[in-house]
Amino acid sequence: MKIMKKKLLSFFLICLFWGCSESSTTAIQETTEIDLNKVYKWNMVTTWPKNYPGLGRAAENLSKYVDEMSNGRLKIKVYGAGEMVPAMEVFDAVSRGAAQLGHGASYYWTGKLKSSQFFTAVPFGLTAQEINSWIHWGGGQELWEEAYAPFNLIPFAGGNTGVQMAGWFKKEINSLDDLKGLKMRIPGLAGEIFSRAGAETVLLPGSDIFLALQQGVIDAAEWVGPFNDLTFGFHQVADYYYYPGWHEGGSTLEIIINKEAYSSLPDDLKAIVKYAARAVNQEMLDEYTANNNRALTELVEVHGVELRKLPDDVLIELRRISEEVMEEFIKDDEMATKIYNSYLAFKQDVIQYHEISEKAFIEMRDLEE
Ligand code: CA
Repeated sequence: MKIMKKKLLSFFLICLFWGCSESSTTAIQETTEIDLNKVYKWNMVTTWPKNYPGLGRAAENLSKYVDEMSNGRLKIKVYGAGEMVPAMEVFDAVSRGAAQLGHGASYYWTGKLKSSQFFTAVPFGLTAQEINSWIHWGGGQELWEEAYAPFNLIPFAGGNTGVQMAGWFKKEINSLDDLKGLKMRIPGLAGEIFSRAGAETVLLPGSDIFLALQQGVIDAAEWVGPFNDLTFGFHQVADYYYYPGWHEGGSTLEIIINKEAYSSLPDDLKAIVKYAARAVNQEMLDEYTANNNRALTELVEVHGVELRKLPDDVLIELRRISEEVMEEFIKDDEMATKIYNSYLAFKQDVIQYHEISEKAFIEMRDLEE
């Protein structure tokens, strides 16, 4: 800080002696408006248990990176779910300014804002690589900001889990009939799709799933994938672990910031928050990619979990219902229609190339002699 002040002073003295152009003077005036001694103290509420691997760590990392990059000028205190507000009240708390920022998943808020669904995941939708491209290069960020503006919120992508698992089931799923009457924790649109396939769905925060499964309140639950699911111990209360996560092909987490709080920051701190979010977004995906297979191996080999793939006819039916549900979901909602059209156009475009790149490459690695 002292060095920066000295530099500014020297520049000012040089201007006195040599004169500066108008633009340089303006630059100095703007720069000197930043009070380098002012410390901003923010609270961050999250929908995750404190320090939870992957999801919760992203919030802690954001706080750490912002602290380091701002030289301690912006301090962010992270609260786990229930410490300041319950998990499902994070959106409202940040919206009304009770906390300056939050970390969660946008699809938890579809009850108040349908279009929030698109910024986490759409069943049979985009992968992590693809949704990051849509958000950052395909117009998704601008649409997200537009959708959240009425709630006084500025959103950023804040992590990605990669492809999730279909979930934990107490009994085997061999046909569509096995879904009938099944009580499952599965949020967002996927819950609606599962309901139409005959299941009964509920929305619970992650920390409530274990008990609900154990007490028989639910028969099945999806959470994330092996790395996270192992930590919650679902293998102790359900035997079957199904893939693929048809409903979450690469779920984006979100960082939401109260608009007034963000506007009150000087430009350099705004940039620090924005780029720290970008770093956290990629880092979470790296963390999951590095840890998932180790966790899955432990679940299967140490805990005897039965790994199963959902039957093709079940997946095909879920995809059919999904298309039907999407059409109804966006109907009569201008913002949701606008965002879904953008999402869909991007998907059609990106999967065309991924046919001959990512998909062809992965298939090529499996070629047998
Ligand atoms: Ca999930």
